[in-house]
Amino acid sequence: RAARSSGDAVRSYLPSMTQGFLRRFQLVTQFRHALDSGQVQVHYQPKVALPSREVVGVEALVRWVHPEFGRVDPDEFVPAVEATGLVDALTGFVMECALIRIRKWLDRGLRLSVAVNLSVRNLEDETFPDKVADALRRHDVPPRLLTFELTESGVMADPERCLPVLRRLHGLGVVLAVDDFGTGYSSLAYLRQLPVDEVKIDKSFVLGMGTDLGDLAVVRSIVELGHSLGLQVVAEGVEEDAAKEALVRMGCDIAQGYLISRPLSEDRFEAWLRARTVRARGRHDEMVLTL
Ligand code: C2E
Ligand code: MG
Ligand code: MG
Ligand code: MG
Repeated sequence: RAARSSGDAVRSYLPSMTQGFLRRFQLVTQFRHALDSGQVQVHYQPKVALPSREVVGVEALVRWVHPEFGRVDPDEFVPAVEATGLVDALTGFVMECALIRIRKWLDRGLRLSVAVNLSVRNLEDETFPDKVADALRRHDVPPRLLTFELTESGVMADPERCLPVLRRLHGLGVVLAVDDFGTGYSSLAYLRQLPVDEVKIDKSFVLGMGTDLGDLAVVRSIVELGHSLGLQVVAEGVEEDAAKEALVRMGCDIAQGYLISRPLSEDRFEAWLRARTVRARGRHDEMVLTL
C-alpha cells in the first residue's frame, strides 16, 4: 500500500516520457513473477475453414492481468519482454499451454491445431528447434497440429540467422505461417525462399476491404500469390459477413476474426466448442461447425 501510493506520488510529477519508461521497466522486471503466479494467461481464438465453416484450429494469444495496471495488452508488453531474455520463458509457457490443449482435444476425438506466435528472438536461438521437438514428444502431439506464426519483418531483419532455425522447425513437421503479411517491406519473391506453409493477411487490409478498393485489391492479390506458391491463405480481422463472403469468393482458405469469435479464455472457449461440436457423418471423429 505505502509503496504503491508513494509510487503514485512519484509518477504524478514525472514527465510522461519517464512514466512510460517507468511502466515499461516495471513490466519487464515483473514479468517472470507474473508468469509464475498465474497473471499471464492464454486465450484462444478460433480459425474456420471456408466455405465449410469447420473449426480447424485456434490461435493462442497471451493476456496479462496486472495487479496494478489491470489488463495489459500483448502489443505493449511483448515488445518489452522481447528486449530481454524472458521471451524464451513466454514462448515456452504459451507452447506448453498449446500442447496441453491439443492433447486434451485429441483424447476427446477432436483434431484442432494451435498457432503460437514467435518472437524473432526464438528464431535466433539455435536451441529452439530441440526444445520444440522435446515438447512435442513429452505431450505426444503430432507436429502438424502445432503452428508457429512469425512476422515477415522479424525474419527479414536477419534472414541469415533465422533461416537455419526455420528450416529445422519445418523439418520437424510443424506448420509455419507468416503473420501480418502485407505490412512488411520484404519482396514477394522472398516469400518463395522461406520454408513456410501459410500466409496470414494482415487484419488492416481485411478490415478495410469493404470500403477501400485498394485494400480489397491487396487481399485478392495475397490470396492469388499465396495459392500460386502452394500456401494456405488465412485472413485475420474478419468482422463482417460481407468480408467473409468476399473471401469465400476469392477462394481464401481460412478465416479468423470477431465475426466468428473474439479470443476467449480457456473455460469460455471450451464452452464455445461444446456448443458447436457435432459428430460428423461417416467419421468417428467429432467436428466443430460455426457461423
Ligand atoms: P497477431 O498475432 O496478428 O494476432 C491477431 C490480433 O488481432 C490479436 O490481438 C487479436 O485479438 C486481434 N483480432 C483478432 N480478430 C480480430 C478482428 O476481427 N478485429 C480486430 N480489430 N482485431 C482482431 P492481440 O491478442 O491484442 O495480440 C496482438 C499481437 O500480440 C499479436 O498479433 C501478436 O503479434 C502478439 N502476441 C500475442 N500473443 C503472443 C505470444 O504469445 N507471443 C508473442 N511473441 N507475441 C504474441
Ligand atoms: Mg489487442
Ligand atoms: Mg498471430
Ligand atoms: Mg496478425
